[in-house]
Amino acid sequence: MSTQHDAPAPHSKTPSASPSPLAILPDAPARAEKWRNPYRALPRVRWVVQLAYVAFLLLVAWQFVRFHDAVLGDGPISVARPPAVEAFLPIAALVAAKRFFLTRYWDVVHPAGLTIFLAAIATAFVARKAFCSWVCPVGTISRALEWLGRKTLWRRRWPAVPRWLDLPLSAVKYLLLAFFLWTVVVMMPLEAIEGFMQAPYNLAADAKMLELFAHPSATMAAVLGGLVALSLVVKHAWCRWLCPYGALLGLASFLSPVSVRRDPDACNDCRACTRACPNEIQVHAKLRVLSTECTGCMSCVAACSTPDCLGVTRKGARAWSPWLVPAATLAVMLGFWAVARATGFWEASVPPEVYRVAYRILGIG
Ligand code: SF4
Ligand code: SF4
Ligand code: SF4
Repeated sequence: MSTQHDAPAPHSKTPSASPSPLAILPDAPARAEKWRNPYRALPRVRWVVQLAYVAFLLLVAWQFVRFHDAVLGDGPISVARPPAVEAFLPIAALVAAKRFFLTRYWDVVHPAGLTIFLAAIATAFVARKAFCSWVCPVGTISRALEWLGRKTLWRRRWPAVPRWLDLPLSAVKYLLLAFFLWTVVVMMPLEAIEGFMQAPYNLAADAKMLELFAHPSATMAAVLGGLVALSLVVKHAWCRWLCPYGALLGLASFLSPVSVRRDPDACNDCRACTRACPNEIQVHAKLRVLSTECTGCMSCVAACSTPDCLGVTRKGARAWSPWLVPAATLAVMLGFWAVARATGFWEASVPPEVYRVAYRILGIG
């Protein structure tokens, strides 16, 4: 689902149709050159934040591999299991979320997974899908592939996906989301949820995931290779078309009071904003970007060449600094983590030996 057409397309000034009033002033070119977009550093800062998250998750992966090896061994398990590994178990988090809302009991098997899942949804309520562009490591990989594609294949211009193709393909992720919501939220009774959460498969879901990527089957390798190749041709193909997590965040972002807004009177129709958008949203033709595809990356705002033309608005307020979009996102993520840690809802309450039993039942290793 996309709401790229939600905001009415306003008139835009073009240089030929409506010359800038500054043109009649003798020092107009000098003034125009003097204006430096105060938000131009946003993409660079975003890279720093994204790479910091990737580095953190690499540390988590390294720690988890050590834990995994210790569980597979015969000696005492003295390596701690890193809770953040549960960020990669969104289905388990969805099941745990339903259980929490039915019983008020927090998941003790993957508590960090539930915390991260709810925190990501909370960020969408506050700052649209900024989780995707500032936190999610898959989004970072997607962005890196976009960069690689621009440097190697599309030096002049990325080929835009036609709307007739983009819209139905964008719907695929909503169909996947509907499938998971139907299966878990609607159809799964509480007894089945309790059984699922105590099952060895749920206990060792992270280990199964590790094995899947450490020793990929031919099919898995082909799928991953295909997605990488597709992402070099289509910007963020996985995120735009296939990721149900992103679809869920997009739906939650409907309730966000924050959106990119364009002032049509200041706009010169240069379209730098649209070219900068990783999701090919036609920013230059919107008054407000209300699309569920907007990831709050702020690339459009950073690319705008005109003073006070593109910014961020919050309902009930005139403007929000674009810096507040990532700041709010990171604050929500860190806030959930801090509260979960302080209240004991971050680390799993599962004795290490239980993992060893689960691994053996599932034939892991
Ligand atoms: S769409 Fe999915 S994979 Fe992509 S950045 Fe968002 S949550 Fe991550
Ligand atoms: S509209 Fe702007 S903030 Fe939204 S995804 Fe596109 S470039 Fe990023
Ligand atoms: S970059 Fe700014 S001036 Fe150019 S089309 Fe977009 S909103 Fe208008």
